[in-house]
Formats: sequence, structure tokens, C-alpha cells
Amino acid sequence: MSNQMDFIRIKNFINGEWIEETGVEYVPLYNPSTGEQIGEVPLSTPETSAAAVESSYAAYDSWRHMAVSKRIRFIFDMRKAMQDRTEELAVAIAVDQAKHISEARGEVQRVIEILETACGIPTLIQGETLEGIAGNINGRVIRQPLGVFGGIAPFNFPALVFGWFIPAAIGAGNTFVFKPSTQSPYFMQKMGDIFNDIGLPKGVVNIIHGNRTVPQVWYEHPKISGVCLVGSTPTAKKIAEGCGRGGKRTMLLGGAKNYLVAMEDAQTDVFIENFIISCFGSAGQRCLAGSVVALVPEIYDRMIEKMIEASRGVVVGDAMDPDVYMGPVISAAAKQKIEKYIDIGIEGGSKLVLDGRNPQLPEKNQNGYYVGPTIFTDVTPCRIIAQEEIFGPVVSVMKISGIEDALELISNQEFGNGACIFTQNLYYTEKFISEADVGMVGVNVGICAPHPYLPFGGIKDSHLGTDKVQGRDCIDFFTQNKIATIRFAPPVGRFAAEEGETFKTAPEKKDVRSCVAT
Ligand code: NAD
Repeated sequence: MSNQMDFIRIKNFINGEWIEETGVEYVPLYNPSTGEQIGEVPLSTPETSAAAVESSYAAYDSWRHMAVSKRIRFIFDMRKAMQDRTEELAVAIAVDQAKHISEARGEVQRVIEILETACGIPTLIQGETLEGIAGNINGRVIRQPLGVFGGIAPFNFPALVFGWFIPAAIGAGNTFVFKPSTQSPYFMQKMGDIFNDIGLPKGVVNIIHGNRTVPQVWYEHPKISGVCLVGSTPTAKKIAEGCGRGGKRTMLLGGAKNYLVAMEDAQTDVFIENFIISCFGSAGQRCLAGSVVALVPEIYDRMIEKMIEASRGVVVGDAMDPDVYMGPVISAAAKQKIEKYIDIGIEGGSKLVLDGRNPQLPEKNQNGYYVGPTIFTDVTPCRIIAQEEIFGPVVSVMKISGIEDALELISNQEFGNGACIFTQNLYYTEKFISEADVGMVGVNVGICAPHPYLPFGGIKDSHLGTDKVQGRDCIDFFTQNKIATIRFAPPVGRFAAEEGETFKTAPEKKDVRSCVAT
């Protein structure tokens, strides 16, 4: 156990109370930078999961009927609390997820920006009116919350995924049950304290820890309205299946394999800077991590040389060390899996030009889970390392004949999260934006996450369902439309006296009938 902090016994947060699970299995929580066990996480039972749903359901009625201005005040207060406690929250991410502390600060800052966007929910949830469908008939669309949502987070963005789901969901009037990853649960322990500090009504957000047993309760639970996940594609498909049976709405973001394409006119410095950030940021454990680099022949050898040189400069080490660029991967199992992919790459005939296995580390990090920057060249599209999500700092470099070739490679893969192109050429740019078969495109920027005002999400196997996180898409997911058709008339009797009728709407009687008939 680390001598800098107490042993972390993760608790559930249900109805505003911290509840220690008893009589259940606890799994160890590690600091990936050192390999030390720093805590333990309960595998909550289906009964506890159902109790969390009941708590959120009980909170729903008064929460949804609270004046929107009052509800949004909690989002403002959440934002302020996160701003005031940025460092504490970033350290929480750096400890169990081992995201490098500077990136962890960035993640908290991004959530603060998302909360700022969510403060605009009174505008975002406004409906529409169509006046004059016919004489004295108006149509109106209103957006209403649905009830209780369940959300499931992956290990690699414990804060961001909270930000993607909860502010929009509760801001729109829903309540929420959230399941963090057992590998990075510590951030949400801090958030539970924040919920209580700002006086968020009990049950509006419940946090429950565990494995798949927790969400499985939700699929057919009558008091759950929808389920959202950020995780791997196989997990997304299992949830889609379960929620399909239960008739729940879903928003499921899955895995990825992202391309960086450099054309003959790419600016070398810009490309290299973005290559390092995209491929080795968060140790390659991002859904927007660059994992395939496609280079045209004119720059192939030169760019590879520069890539190797820059990658050698990436300092690998403890996530809390300010001199380090890249921290460890999440677990011993993840390290093993990544190293297995390196073996597969070698066996498959690709050329290992930079081997990240066994990087140099200080004594205290010897038991951490490290893989350094790794580059394969001469990779062909059918190779396993070019197709599967490795989720580590391993890059496959391919030679492409031109823009058409790049687009075909991207479109042939099952994933469709992000891709970017480096060029000064308007034709390449517009063609790539238009034809790259992915959900998020970059031009002269690495595979970059769209700003919180814009939707975020891929296509194909990277995203199941229609709505994406962030922006208006997310509001669509967390609200349902109700369409009202309103016929109005002067008070009964006003015209009746004149015309001997008990009810008269207006001169356009014929229009009224034809509208009702359709
Ligand atoms: P994972 O799929 O193993 O787990 C994600 C979450 O789902 C965890 O909380 C886990 O406990 C839970 N889970 C696992 N199996 C389940 C099941 N059968 N039923 C219900 N819940 C289940 O993913 P991970 O390893 O934690 O995260 C990495 C993956 O997430 C990568 O594939 C990455 O690309 C993806 N990811 C995608 C995005 C995106 O925006 N598309 C963002 C971040 C991460």
C-alpha cells in the first residue's frame, strides 16, 4: 500500500449515503504506476443494484418537477466545486487509472467545460411550436425527461464519461444510476462527496460499483428508461441485446482503430507533434488513440525516421512524475495483452522498428505496468495488428498509394470512430472530410475530441444506436418528444348568442375538419 494515502475501500453511494457493501466479494484496486494494491472495490449484488434504481426512481418525480432554474443551479454548483477541487480530482484519476497527472488535469477541465455547456440546458431542452396548422390550431413539440437512466463507464475516462452522461441526463430532469469501472472507481468517490456538498437531492445520482451483474439488472427493470455505455464493442453488443429484450433506449459507444494519414505535402513538424499526442497520450488507451499511420511513398522513409526519433524522446514513468510524458497501462493483464499483440506483429512479418517492451524505469516503478512507444512498419492491411484494437502505445505504419487507398483502408475496417489527415491540399481535405468512413474527422490535428458543444461519437462498430454524447444529440437521448395539437376557441357562449350555436371556433371551420381528419 502507498505510504502517501490511506487504503481506499470503495463504497456505494445510494440515496446520498456512503454504504459499505458487506458479504460480497471485493476485487483489488491497484496503482498501475507502481503495481501496489491501494484499495479494494466491491462487486455489488443485483439486489444492491435494484435498490439504487429504486432510490433514483423515488427521487425522479420531485426532481423532474423542480423549476428548471433551480435544477440548473445544482449544475452550476457542481461546476464550481469541480473547479475548486481540480487538483484533488486529477490526483484521484492519476492514482488508480494512472493517467499522467497533466492529462488528468485536462480531463477534469474538459468535464468542467461540459458542465458549462449543461448550464445551458434550459435553452437546449426547449421545444418548438408551429402556429396556424389550420385556423385556430397550433402544434407544439415539448421535450420531457424519461425517468431513471443507467450509465456504465470504461476504465480509461472515469471523469469524462461521468461528464458525458450525468450533467445532461439530470439537467434534463432524469435521475441516474452510474457504474464506474472497477479499475478506476476512485474519481466517483470524490464526486459523491461533491454531490452531498452542493446539496444535490438524495437519489438524483446513485453510484454503484461492481461488474456486469450491476447493469444486467437494468435491462428489463420496469423503472429503468434507458442505458448508456462507453466501453468496448463486445460489451456494447451485449448491452444492446439485453436492452433490446427490455425495450430500453440505448446510447452505446464502442471501440476503435483510428488512422492518421499523411500526404506528400504534410507539414512534418505538425504531423510529428500530433502523432506523438495521438498515439502515446494516455499510453494509447483512448478511443481516439492513433493506431495506424498511413504514409504516401514520397514521405514514407523520411517520416518514419522522424517518428522513431520523436518516440525515443517520450519519457515513460510514474503518472505523478511531472517529467514523465507517458504513464503505465491500466493493469498487468492489459500489459500482457499488448505484449502479445507485439509478438503477433513480429510473427506476422511486420517490421518492429521501435520496441517498447521493458522500458527503463526507476526502482519504485519496477512492478508497474509499462509498455513504451512501439512502432511497426511495412504493415499490410490484413495483419491482425492493423485491424484489432490493441489499446496501448503500439503503432502500425502502412504505405499507401494515395488518398483513395487511405479512404478504402478506413472504410474496410469494422470500426469507425476517428481519422485525421495531414495536408495543405484543399482537394484532399474536402475529399477526406466527405468520404472518410468514420464519425470524427481531423484535418492537420491529431485524432481530436470534439468540443463539448458538438456531438462526440463514431459510426459502424464504434457506436451502436443513433444519438451521440455531448451537444444536442445527448439532449435528444435524455429527453423524449411529446407532440401536442391544440385547437382553441373563444370561451363557450361568446359566439353562441350571436349565431345560435353552442360551439364555434372561428370562420375557418372547413380547415379545422380537414386537419382533424388527417
Ligand atoms: P469494457 O467493455 O471491458 O468495460 C466497460 C464497462 O462495461 C466497465 O464498467 C465494465 O465493468 C462493464 N462491462 C463489461 N462487460 C460487461 C457486460 N457483459 N455487461 C455489462 N457491463 C459490462 O471496456 P474497458 O476495457 O473498461 O474500456 C476500454 C474500451 O472502451 C475500449 O474498447 C475503448 O475503445 C472503449 N472506449 C470507447 C470510447 C468511445 O467514445 N467510443 C471512449 C472511451 C473508451
